[in-house]
Order: sequence, then structure tokens, then C-alpha cells
Amino acid sequence: MLAFSHTDDPFSERREQMVTADLIGRRIRDPNVLRAMLLTPRHLFVPASMRSMAYEDGPLAIGYGATISQPYVVALMTESVSLEPRHRVLEIGTGSGYQAAILGQLAGQVYTIEIVPQLAESAARTLCELGYANVHVRHGDGYKGWKEHAPYDRIVVTAAPLEVPRELIVELARGGRLVAPVGAAGSQELVLIDKRFDGRIERLRMGFVNFVPMKPGAR
Ligand code: SAH
Repeated sequence: MLAFSHTDDPFSERREQMVTADLIGRRIRDPNVLRAMLLTPRHLFVPASMRSMAYEDGPLAIGYGATISQPYVVALMTESVSLEPRHRVLEIGTGSGYQAAILGQLAGQVYTIEIVPQLAESAARTLCELGYANVHVRHGDGYKGWKEHAPYDRIVVTAAPLEVPRELIVELARGGRLVAPVGAAGSQELVLIDKRFDGRIERLRMGFVNFVPMKPGAR
């Protein structure tokens, strides 16, 4: 049960507009993705002073060099990995926790890693307060993955590395899918990777995007 009450939500109309104009209007079709984005209180994932901007059609800076991604980009990435309730998902770059909350409504278990301790802590608190009990946050370096729960059926990377980190490909299950923004600032492309059952890797490019860079962790 989610701890959030929709009956006294001042933003429900804004959220409906967001789903209609920015998601359906741009061909996001998956009804489960649309439903999750309609039900998730995005304004509670941004600092209190920014709540009125939470449903705008763009990314928002949330401090510590992080941004909560544009709603359309969250929907596109989520749709691109076709989640099922049995899936175990790894996210790199927890940030506000919003993308993790969306993943948590469509998958079985979500493990998410954040390199900035303050963000990991505040996202964990928000997710806990709102009742997303199947989302697990850890402070750490995404380049190293999260071995204990591997292999993952799906991996969603929300900070941009120059190349898809090798450890993440290792931790991706056979038959699994990974989506990541890849490349240097200004020329990042969204890449979808399929790991076939025979271990072969297939890549599909999905167009240009703009994410914060994935920081190298401590060696
Ligand atoms: N998914 C987030 C958006 C995050 S922005 C949301 O829904 O709000 C990218 C995040 O990746 C930032 O919070 C940044 O601190 C984090 N990050 C950058 N490099 C990282 C790394 N090596 N490992 C884990 N997280 C990283």
C-alpha cells in the first residue's frame, strides 16, 4: 500500500496534463508506464521550493549536480526495457528516486545505486515514506555494479558514461536488457542493449539525450 493519498493531491490535474501532452502526445504507449506516471507524485521527489515546477516538460536540477529527468525521458527509458512483475532491476544514479519509484511499480525488485551520499539518503527516505517497499537504495559507485543481487533482468542507467560499464554487462542476465545514455556531454545517445540467451550483445541507438555525466568512483 502506498502511503500517498490521491484524494487531497493538489497536483493530480497537472499530472494528467503531463501524461496526456508530454507522454501520450509523444507516442508513449505502454499503459503500465502511463499508469505509473499518472499515479506517482513527482512533486514529492523534488525539494519543497521546486514543487510547482515538478510537472514541467524538462529536467530539473535537484542539487549535488543531479537532475530529475524530464518526464518524457523517464517514460521512454522505462518503456524501452519492457518491464514485467517478475523482473529484478538495477538502476544506476538514484538522484531523486523518481525513476526508481516508477520502476518499482512495474518490476518485482529494484536495486538503485547513488554516488552522492546525501542524495542516496534523501531518496531512500522519500521512497520509504511513500511506501515503495520493493525499491532498495545504496550509496556507492555504479561502475562497480551491485553483485549481491545480480544477475539483473533489466538495467537502467540514468547518468551518462563514455562507454557502457563492463561490470553492468556482466551483471545483466542472459535475455536481459539495459538502457543507458552513452557519450560525452553534448553528444550522448540513448543506447539499448540486448543480451541474447547465447551471450551475444546487440545494440540499438535510440536518439540523442542530455544526462549528467556518470562520475568515476574512487579506485
Ligand atoms: N534517476 C534520477 C536521475 C538522476 S541524475 C531521478 O529519477 O531523479 C544522475 C544521478 O547519477 C545523479 O544523482 C548522480 O549523482 C548519479 N551518479 C553519477 N555518477 C554516478 C556513479 N558513478 N554511480 C552512481 N551514481 C552516479
